[in-house]
Amino acid sequence: MFRQIRLWVICVCAGLSTVFAEPPTNIVVIGWDGAQRDHVKEMIAGNELPNLMALCKEGKLIDIDVTDGMTDTKAGWSQILTGYRSDITGVYRNSRYQPIPEGYSVFERLESFFGPQNIVTLAVIGKKDHVDNDAPRRMEYDTWLANEQKQGKIDLQRPGLGNLRGGRIIEENGKKYVDTPGKPWYFASRNMDLFVNGLDTNERVALRAMAELAAHKESRFFLFVHFANPDHAGHKRGENSQAYSDAIRDDDAWTGKITAKLKELGLYDKTLVYVVVDHGFDEDKKGHNYAPYVFLGTNDSTIIRDGDRMDIAPTILKRYGMDLAAIKPALSGKPLDEPAARKVAPARNPNIRRPLPPPPRRLAAENTAEESAASKGEQTALEQLKETDVDKMTPLEAKRLLTEIKKEMGR
Ligand SMILES: [Zn+2]
Repeated sequence: MFRQIRLWVICVCAGLSTVFAEPPTNIVVIGWDGAQRDHVKEMIAGNELPNLMALCKEGKLIDIDVTDGMTDTKAGWSQILTGYRSDITGVYRNSRYQPIPEGYSVFERLESFFGPQNIVTLAVIGKKDHVDNDAPRRMEYDTWLANEQKQGKIDLQRPGLGNLRGGRIIEENGKKYVDTPGKPWYFASRNMDLFVNGLDTNERVALRAMAELAAHKESRFFLFVHFANPDHAGHKRGENSQAYSDAIRDDDAWTGKITAKLKELGLYDKTLVYVVVDHGFDEDKKGHNYAPYVFLGTNDSTIIRDGDRMDIAPTILKRYGMDLAAIKPALSGKPLDEPAARKVAPARNPNIRRPLPPPPRRLAAENTAEESAASKGEQTALEQLKETDVDKMTPLEAKRLLTEIKKEMGR
């Protein structure tokens, strides 16, 4: 069993508070969903984020770039909390995913490294969609098709249930079904001590997180706290809006309350706090189609360089004392306390010209056969749909194609 040598006590005595010579007991990762780096830096310059700055004064504030996987929520948190490229987790983007393979998440790695009795792993999450753990679902093809027709949206490339896209059409014993994969956190959440999502407001998220800290103060823990506010405000009002700034300020305020709680509970000196972000926001827009520029702010003073979104999990695992070389499959990222070549996200979306790989486990040939069988008299627009990556269409193009399909179906 792992026994920690509490050398940090010596460091504290030497006046180097929170400089851990040995692994810290605990780590808290606080997610600011959708907080754009430039916007945050402007707010820091205006002294509007005192709690983030207090943290970084003890440690570091670094640039993080997204160089793999979409700049969205599903791909973001899956990468941050596994350390893998999207082709290893199978979570490419919000609309193309599968459950993260069992055992690949930071939570599960820590559970098996320390033993389930020796660490508490917790996730307290604001969002319901995209940081979710729904089980895989199966539905009869005819039921699915009727449902989709009713809603006027048929996506034969990625069939699914409602917004649970990314499924596939399969045939078993002569009967057709639509299989929707489980959500990214389906396996991981079953191997953690707590996975709660959909808490919505920062206040509810933070109060729950603080209650969990109090409840587990005697144990070693890893806690992920997810604030959804900036993302929601950005989608509603845009990146340059007052609402977006207010939401980031609110993240900062609740982050401060969580660190204050750690201090009150006597945990702060043995706890590292990382503030991280899944994706930024398109400048002056209401979306994050390509927003690869984010940051990491922490009281961890061992960090020495800017990094990549996939470097965060290796940093966490290493700080708990894990031997990264023993992890299989090999982590895609490198810990941020080790030198590594700087990976900078290109200024323009590299995915625009390069088609994304197919979703894992999708049987392309099978689907193609099903698509033509299902299309009957609607070849023209549906044919077009088959050859188009709908995620790359503009909303107007998508609307036009949908209208065409509707027309062909006599609706
Ligand atoms: Zn978003």
